[in-house]
Amino acid sequence: MYQSMIPYGRQFIDNSDIEAVVDTLKSDFITQGPAVKQFEKAIAKKVKAKHAVAVSSATAALHLSCLALDLSENDTAWTVPLSFVASANAIKYCKATIDFVDICPDTGCICPEQLSKKLKQAEKLNKLPKLLIVVHFSGISCDMKTIASLCHPYNIKIVEDASHALGAYYHNEPVGSCLYSDLCVFSFHPVKIITSGEGGVITSNDTQLAQKLKLLGSHGITKDKDKLHDDAPPWYYEQKDLGFNYRMSDIHAALGLSQLSKLDNFIKIRNELAQNYLHELKDLPIEFITPPEGCLSSWHLFIIKVKKETKKTRKEIYLDLTKLNIGCQIHYIPIHWQPYYANLGFKKGDYLDSEKFYETCLSIPIYPSLTEQRYIVECLKKILCI
Ligand SMILES: *Cc1c(COP(=O)(O)O)cnc(C)c1O
Repeated sequence: MYQSMIPYGRQFIDNSDIEAVVDTLKSDFITQGPAVKQFEKAIAKKVKAKHAVAVSSATAALHLSCLALDLSENDTAWTVPLSFVASANAIKYCKATIDFVDICPDTGCICPEQLSKKLKQAEKLNKLPKLLIVVHFSGISCDMKTIASLCHPYNIKIVEDASHALGAYYHNEPVGSCLYSDLCVFSFHPVKIITSGEGGVITSNDTQLAQKLKLLGSHGITKDKDKLHDDAPPWYYEQKDLGFNYRMSDIHAALGLSQLSKLDNFIKIRNELAQNYLHELKDLPIEFITPPEGCLSSWHLFIIKVKKETKKTRKEIYLDLTKLNIGCQIHYIPIHWQPYYANLGFKKGDYLDSEKFYETCLSIPIYPSLTEQRYIVECLKKILCI
């Protein structure tokens, strides 16, 4: 028995991270200094994208992505019900109409067959979306090639919510390379793969979009000489659009940059922990979420799913584990069940695959510094009576 609760996820911070932050605190700039640019460059290089724009959170990144792609009141955008609410909220920040596409039970990612069907229906009704936000659930990349081939004929923009998936690969390409999308968003919240405290980034290969994201993330203000009239005085700046203060500080970026150097190791450890779980728990009456052929998961989450044959309910397992100081979590309550979305007209039964997923899933601890895996495995075996 462990004295304190083992969390389902947590950050890994070492002395080099601490030193990086302290160095920034002692420097001339604690915000809008050199660290943000260095971090952006390093992220872009790591995921093989032309540009990276660092911001204050993935939520801000999703909002800016929708704005930069001109999503507004008269448009529709689609996402999935099985995600954190931020994926959907970005659409509503722009006052657009939202609709959802259901997921594949095996991966938790958007289901291409259901997307295809919904697109054909929407075409007939003249209700095609302007953009689609897909979510790389638990660290598994969605089937981007298929999704892009379905969306391109209609000129639908694609944003990847890769909050779970920094360090993941899709057919030998790093998630974030935007080979099949317009923009890709990562989160640096402490439970995610690397952290900057709070923080997020958007990657893209489109130079104009990247400039627009930068502008909108900093009040819509530019001091760029190229964008001002020729005789602009040296103090001059201009607000070109209604933007926000979504900037990342140098303090956060210094931490992010230091963490990024550990990414490969984090992914290696997460994959080892996942393989251990899969091996040790393989005879239990439960199911797992695993990446399909050609995908390397970043294993942000390790999810077990109860089946008909499972002797206990999901709630019983959750309570048993909690009693043993093993923290677990449910990812996620379907977004369309949230009162805010129910008020928009969505209801239980609208997206059965996401709902069934929610009813059966349970995330158990996985993070680089997890040392209690053996204990967790033994407890699960006891709880599930093997
Ligand atoms: C964590 C998360 C977000 C929000 O990230 P923040 O950086 O906390 O704003 C968005 N989408 C998904 C899928 C997430 O898991």
